[in-house]
Amino acid sequence: MACKTPELNYMFVDNTTDVPEALAEINRHSLLAVHCKGFKLGSRRSGELTLITVATQTKSFIFDVLTLGQCVFDDGLGAILEDKTKEKLMFNCRRDADNLFHQQKVQLTGVLDLQLLEFMFSKREVPKSEEKSRRSSRTGEVQLLKGFRQCIEMYVKDEVIIEVRLRCQRQVLGDSHVWKTRPLSENLKKYCCVDASALFTLYINLQQDGKDHSRLVIASDRYVDTFRCLPDITQGLCVFNPFLPLDIIPEAGDSFEFPEASTKCIGCLRLFPADEFPKAQLRNKQRFCRVCAEVKSIFSKAFGIDLITQGKTRFVQAKPRR
Ligand SMILES: [Zn+2]
Repeated sequence: MACKTPELNYMFVDNTTDVPEALAEINRHSLLAVHCKGFKLGSRRSGELTLITVATQTKSFIFDVLTLGQCVFDDGLGAILEDKTKEKLMFNCRRDADNLFHQQKVQLTGVLDLQLLEFMFSKREVPKSEEKSRRSSRTGEVQLLKGFRQCIEMYVKDEVIIEVRLRCQRQVLGDSHVWKTRPLSENLKKYCCVDASALFTLYINLQQDGKDHSRLVIASDRYVDTFRCLPDITQGLCVFNPFLPLDIIPEAGDSFEFPEASTKCIGCLRLFPADEFPKAQLRNKQRFCRVCAEVKSIFSKAFGIDLITQGKTRFVQAKPRR
């Protein structure tokens, strides 16, 4: 494997006096990569975002949010993250967008989500037999997303990135406090740096002459809002699952429109056209979209418990308010 990362060029910003220099350099670029780390960010809003890496194609800036506090966002980083003219490469932006909004009051925009780009790039097929059937029957459209590590291994193939990530893997996976402990080791700083660098390589390798750029922008705009528009996040299997949510990526074509949606799934609480649900579910008001139905089915088979209908996912669809 060729080494495509000649240097691990980063600046660790944990002093307010260094913030203006870092932001000035970031502001000279219109394409950035953004990656967040934190403490127990995975499933609950009570988790803590402790680091945010914002990278240009030549240098990563790792902002120590734990040390700098909210002022780093108020002093300019927030404006960059909210500036839609600055395109931000991210991978599965949903959780980071949720945390940035509900903890730092930053409404992330301008995202190009590479988890979605990978899905578009790989052109996963839907069974032909399903094409004309009712939405609720087209279960082949429920498809798995690929994870970040898998995409790095498949599309980035950079030995420096893989080696740095491998070196920290046990620590990162085994210690929930790893991104909250200070001082942060050089290895962990490099880990943040390579994760951001990998986004640029991933983007370059997944682009197909930029022809799907508009679709990616629209899809990422919907994706970024998926979690943060919920007023609360509990242990929602309908929220945290490895499937692509329905009606996120528009069909290829001129209009990029989504079908009119006014019927709510009681799992993920997203709105869908009525034919997303079997007729019996429409009658008894126990409506689960195809993704939630799949998650529910897998969970029930694995644990013999129907968590979702026990009322443990309580979400209300709402737009974020500033
Ligand atoms: Zn649903």
